[in-house]
Amino acid sequence: MNEYDSNRIFDLAKKINYQKTESIGEADCYVLNTCHIREKATEKVYHDIGRVKKEFKNRKKPIVVVTGCVAQAEGEVLLKKEKYIDAVIGPQSYHKFNNTLIKLEKNTKKINFTEFDVADKFDNLNIIKNSDSNISTFITIQEGCDKFCKFCVVPYTRGPEYSRPVKEILEECRVVVGNGAREITLLGQNVNAYNFEGKKLSNLIYEISKINELKRIRYTTSHPVDFSQDLINIYNQTEKLMPLIHLPVQSGSNKVLRNMNRKHTIEEYLNLVDILKKINSSIKFSSDFIIGYPGETDKDFKDTLNLLKKVQFINSYSFIFSPRPGTPAFKMSQIDHNTSKKRLLIFQKTAEEIKIKYRKSLFGKKLRVLFENRSGKSNQFFGRDEHSNSVIAESDFNLKGEIKNVQIINGNHNTLFGEVNSKIGQNNHAA
Ligand code: SF4
Repeated sequence: MNEYDSNRIFDLAKKINYQKTESIGEADCYVLNTCHIREKATEKVYHDIGRVKKEFKNRKKPIVVVTGCVAQAEGEVLLKKEKYIDAVIGPQSYHKFNNTLIKLEKNTKKINFTEFDVADKFDNLNIIKNSDSNISTFITIQEGCDKFCKFCVVPYTRGPEYSRPVKEILEECRVVVGNGAREITLLGQNVNAYNFEGKKLSNLIYEISKINELKRIRYTTSHPVDFSQDLINIYNQTEKLMPLIHLPVQSGSNKVLRNMNRKHTIEEYLNLVDILKKINSSIKFSSDFIIGYPGETDKDFKDTLNLLKKVQFINSYSFIFSPRPGTPAFKMSQIDHNTSKKRLLIFQKTAEEIKIKYRKSLFGKKLRVLFENRSGKSNQFFGRDEHSNSVIAESDFNLKGEIKNVQIINGNHNTLFGEVNSKIGQNNHAA
């Protein structure tokens, strides 16, 4: 979401004649768009500002703006602690970005915008055309969260759930497809809680799938509790919806899930996985895991390992529990860090074995790949298959924006290598 937000901040700043620069030393304005989900996020802000200070030593300083969830969470504290920062703008106040810059160009009074006026933000951003021209791009459809998992800062930094109007999203989808996009990932902290005047995520996917030149639709991140029957059914109704579901589970233990306030059991999660696989046998899953959550015993950890093996997630993102200030879990009694580290290593080794086995199973297979850009050598093209695996193939023709059948020859940890099967790959439509 920060990638989408950064692009939209840039679209705004362009309106008042700012351009992107690759070099810090050239900047008139330095924007640090931050994420607060992991530990030490605030320290990283101070560290980064230190780099800018060094660069501009003995020179007129640039305007320095901190945006994103650290700005939201820390607000005034950042401005007081680091005088080099001129403004903090929380995620729901980006529409005030240009006025902030204009004011700061004229005087040096510090500015703090950290209110939750998300509807106002999108009303203002809609006026400005999304200039993103990537083949695969993101569009935010929903922000905020009402779930209040005990470890998570999102309800405090992004605010309550808000769904953008269908019409507004469809318009933005048409704009990015006009710019060249062939794949759109719909974003939301709780994307499948999307509900605009009774229209749900499934309705939205169906409407978006009618855009002709758009070949692929994805969405992230979903909560198991919000996986309603209509969303399950949509996997049978449009082939443009890709069969990889990122479905965070966090732990394989019911006791830990309760302590996290995740609102579902492992049995319910596994049932959902089964139902989805039955409706579309090519569906695969990826997930997030927190290792060493307060109260996690050896038995709870074994349950998590068992779940990992049972579902055979093709990608598992795992982290040691990181207490976030202001959340209920911050005050809970922490488990021994070395124990968490050992468990994380065991978890990641198992997840890696599953991933390697899965990737090897793709060798020799034909995958439908949407090519996004040239990679390294001039005749090499980078793309992704339906399950988002990175694929590189050679071609004398420009494959950018095309879907081709690729015969996978081999691969390494991150990338599969294959050959474009031109006979079968003539057809440029989604699988
Ligand atoms: S559902 Fe997701 S975004 Fe919402 S509180 Fe839980 S972890 Fe955070």
